[in-house]
Amino acid sequence: MNIRKTTIRRRAARTLLIVPALFCLSLAGCGRNPDDGPGPEPATWAGSAVADGLLVVTHGGVGSPPELADGCRLAADTGAASLGAGAPALEAAVAAAVALENDPRFNAGTGANIRLDGRTIQMDAALMSGDGRFAAVAVIERVRNPVLVAREVYETPHRLLAGDGATRFAHAMGFADEIPSCPEAEAKHRRRIARLLRGETSIDYRNFDWRKAWNYPAPIPTPADTLPPMAAAPGPETGDTIGAVTRAADGAFAVALSTGGTSITLDGRVGDVPIYGCGCYAGPDGAVACTGFGEQIIRSMMARTVYVLMENGMTAREAVRRGCAMFPEEYSLGLIAVGREGWGVGANRQMAYGKAGAR
Ligand code: ASP
Repeated sequence: MNIRKTTIRRRAARTLLIVPALFCLSLAGCGRNPDDGPGPEPATWAGSAVADGLLVVTHGGVGSPPELADGCRLAADTGAASLGAGAPALEAAVAAAVALENDPRFNAGTGANIRLDGRTIQMDAALMSGDGRFAAVAVIERVRNPVLVAREVYETPHRLLAGDGATRFAHAMGFADEIPSCPEAEAKHRRRIARLLRGETSIDYRNFDWRKAWNYPAPIPTPADTLPPMAAAPGPETGDTIGAVTRAADGAFAVALSTGGTSITLDGRVGDVPIYGCGCYAGPDGAVACTGFGEQIIRSMMARTVYVLMENGMTAREAVRRGCAMFPEEYSLGLIAVGREGWGVGANRQMAYGKAGAR
C-alpha cells in the first residue's frame, strides 16, 4: 500500500480516537480541552527532545519534595543500566520501579502507606508494554514488591488480580509473606492521623464521614492507639506513589507503577494505578505514568488521554503540560512521559523526578 495513503489513514484513525477521548474529558468535568491552547505552565515542568536511544524517566509521587530526587535518579539509572545491558523496555521499567519500592521514603512497597486502621497495608501496582499488554494487582497485602507480582500476572492469561487472591498468587509464585513496613512509614502514618484529627484533609474528603463508612474488621483506632506522644513531631516530607517510563534502544516503550494508596483509604479502596488506561498507558508511540488524586485521574482516563496526544504528534513535554492544564487545579496530578521524540515531566504541585539515558 502507498505509504502516504497509509499515513493519512492512520491520522484519520487517530482523529477518530482522540475526538471521543476529548469528549470523555469534557464530560468528566475536567475543565480545559486541548484545543483551547496550551494552558498555564504547570508548577513542575521539564522535558526535552531526545530523538534516539534509551530513555528512562521516574517520579517519586506528586507533592514529593525535590530533596527526594536522588532516589528518583538512582531508580532512573537502574532502569538505564538494565536497558544498557540489553533488557527490554518492560524489564527496565520494572527494575526502576523496584528501586523506588525499596526506598522507604516513597509510598510504595517498603514505604507504602499504612491504612486508617493503623494495621493494614494494601497496595496497587501496574505495568504495560508498548505492544498493548497490561497487567496489575490491586489491594494486595503481605508482599514487599507488588510491581514484581504484577510482572508475574503479565505472564498469566489474566490482566488484574485483586485482594486475597492477588496476595495468595504472590505467595504461590514464591514471594516472601511479609508485611512491607518500616519506621518511616509508621512515623508518616502517625503524622497523617494527627492531621486527620485536626480536620486537615484534601478537598474530596472534607464532607466525607469516614468514621460512619468505617469498613475495617478492627474498630476505629482511638487517638491513644495511633498517637503516641511523639506523634505530633514534624517529620521529613515524604514521597508518594512511584512510577517509571522507559524507551529502549529499539524504540519500544513500557511503564511500571506502584502505590500504597492515598490518605483516607477505606478497606478495599482501589485507586487509578491498576485501572486500565488511567494510571499508566504504553503503546507504539510512547509511555505515560500518572500520580495524584486517583479518583479524579480515573474520571479523566488520564494516562490514555496523554498518550493519545503523543500519538497525534504532540511532544511528550507538551502532552504532559496539556494533561495538567485539563485537570482541575484543586486535585493533585503528576505525569511523566516518554515518546518517539523525547521526554516530559509535569505536575500541578512539586514533584521529585529522575531521568537517565541519552542527553
Ligand atoms: N494515584 C494514587 C492513588 O490514588 C496516589 C498517588 O499517586 O498519590 O492511589
